[in-house]
Amino acid sequence: MNPYLVFIIAVLGTGYLLDLLLALAGLRSLSPRVPDEFTDILDEDAYRRTQEYIRATTRLSLLQATIILPVTLTFILAGGFNTVDLLVRSAGLGTIATGLLFTGLLLLLNFLVQLPFSLYTTFVLEERFGLNQTSVRTYVLDLLKGLLLAILLGGPLLAAVLWFFDSAGSLAWLYSWFFLVVFTLFVQVIAPVFLLPLFNRFTPLDDGALKQAILAYAKQENFPVQGIYTMDGSRRSKRLNAFFTGLGRWRRIVLYDTLVAAMDAPETVAILAHEMGHFKRHHIAKMMLVSMLQSGMLLYGLSFFLHNSGLFAAFSMEHVSTYAGLVFFFFLYAPVSLVLSLLSNMLSRRYEYEADRFAVRSSGLAGPLISALKKLSRKNLANLTPHPLQVLVHYSHPPVLERIRAIREYALQARD
Ligand SMILES: [Zn+2]
Repeated sequence: MNPYLVFIIAVLGTGYLLDLLLALAGLRSLSPRVPDEFTDILDEDAYRRTQEYIRATTRLSLLQATIILPVTLTFILAGGFNTVDLLVRSAGLGTIATGLLFTGLLLLLNFLVQLPFSLYTTFVLEERFGLNQTSVRTYVLDLLKGLLLAILLGGPLLAAVLWFFDSAGSLAWLYSWFFLVVFTLFVQVIAPVFLLPLFNRFTPLDDGALKQAILAYAKQENFPVQGIYTMDGSRRSKRLNAFFTGLGRWRRIVLYDTLVAAMDAPETVAILAHEMGHFKRHHIAKMMLVSMLQSGMLLYGLSFFLHNSGLFAAFSMEHVSTYAGLVFFFFLYAPVSLVLSLLSNMLSRRYEYEADRFAVRSSGLAGPLISALKKLSRKNLANLTPHPLQVLVHYSHPPVLERIRAIREYALQARD
């Protein structure tokens, strides 16, 4: 049997077993008792609903993985990639257009397989637990806008990478990387002005006590505020959030309308002080650098396997092509990608603690930060007792109880 095929099947199988293990560990670590920290805002009933929600989402993701694995294996073993390749080749287009069509068709197939799960999550599961606010119309429009963006942004990017690897020789990975970095920065800059408004309405925050409190804190931190906006997050979900977006003079503070409705002014300022911590400690720039280094590694690795005949044989391909090599390489790269995402989650969790510490020191609002985190967890139906393995693999934020404990410590240190 083809060694590449053996490796890829082993990777897919191991990935599935890992999902299974994490899900089971997660279900076992659910605790039936409301954690002491939360007894003031969660009664037994509300807590039981959160637990039911976590059980239901876990079961659904297991079902999804259990269906996707055999579908993927069958597609590979039955020569599905070759069938798609022959089909797009029959259109008689140039190699880059053929590559775009090949990738587009595969993404479409993947989308169709995932669609029932997405529909069920939004309109059945989240609906049942009172999280969903999305109408069918918004859902369909989101899909169409997402598709349009994928074509407008993803298309040229993929075309450029394919062009470099077809014509730039051994340094193709470097050119592609450079192009990708410039492209990513460009998208970061235009996102708040041109992309986010496609999906949400942004309204300048009303003058009032909240705006005054935010401006006073921003002034204390010498943060040039270009605008404070509320976003109609309630159009899709009851979840709460806040973020800073954009670079340089396009920088904006964005608060979900659901957040403004649920939090008082000190809690909102405490949340912004946390975001300010990310900004002041350059976490956003550092995470971006890490992800750029990762894409550099990916492209460098890709250049070694792109036209590997063994790899093409594993997928029963009749023709060797750059575009198919790119797709196949992702199967080989999956274990590396898992390890890298573990490391970047670890870094991200450290940054969350740093941002909390900054928030406590700069605003003195440890109490409101804690009550804001508790409200966030309650409204978002967050898992209060995730298993440490789940945290290790999937969590970009530390579990809320650990954050609260750390915030209390920072408050004590700040008083000394
Ligand atoms: Zn954060």
